Amino acid sequence: MDEELLFRILFIAIYAAFFGVRIRYRVESVRREPEQRYQTYSVATKFLILAILGYFASIILYMLSNPWTAWSQIALPTWLRWLGVLGATSSILLVAWIHRELGRQYSAEFAIQKEHTLVTTGPYARTRHPMYTTLNAFSVSMALMTSNLLILLFAILVIVPFPWIARAEEEMLLETFGEDYREYMNRTGRFFPRTRRMSS
Ligand code: SAH
Repeated sequence: MDEELLFRILFIAIYAAFFGVRIRYRVESVRREPEQRYQTYSVATKFLILAILGYFASIILYMLSNPWTAWSQIALPTWLRWLGVLGATSSILLVAWIHRELGRQYSAEFAIQKEHTLVTTGPYARTRHPMYTTLNAFSVSMALMTSNLLILLFAILVIVPFPWIARAEEEMLLETFGEDYREYMNRTGRFFPRTRRMSS
């Protein structure tokens, strides 16, 4: 089979699997009426929305093999594209684990649910935002797989606002959980696991 075609088929199959995992949690979260919603129309959120729109637009152009954007199809080494396949599939497994652990605390918007509990176990034991890290790893991996410069560029742009988004989310959680969250922050990393200290 033509290699390019194989990557396109894998792209669709992996995206389908990704949505398969996410959709259930998204539907459940939309149905839940939270205790409190935190509106976020910050610059970071607007930037994120634009970058995501750009990312999806580039995917459509890639899928249509649009002649005007043919220049964006670059020649990444095949091993790197396969690394993308591996990264994307592992991200799906990780996202499934993260969703299971976060459970009904999850929402696409900033919100505190009724009887919201602070999750500090599993993927949350050492990292405060494992979902954000994994979702970004997923989109960069998918971009590598396509070997498409436009998709890769937008995947990187999507990452940019996350430090601000995570900070705003942490402020909300600090307001809700106070000392418990502060103490949790001290022993965890924001996007990557904090290694255990030798002492204390
Ligand atoms: N930022 C997290 C969670 C994303 S889902 C991550 O990347 O893994 C967003 C919702 O998760 C927020 O509305 C917040 O209420 C909730 N949340 C984030 N961290 C949490 C934690 N440690 N325990 C409970 N809820 C949390």
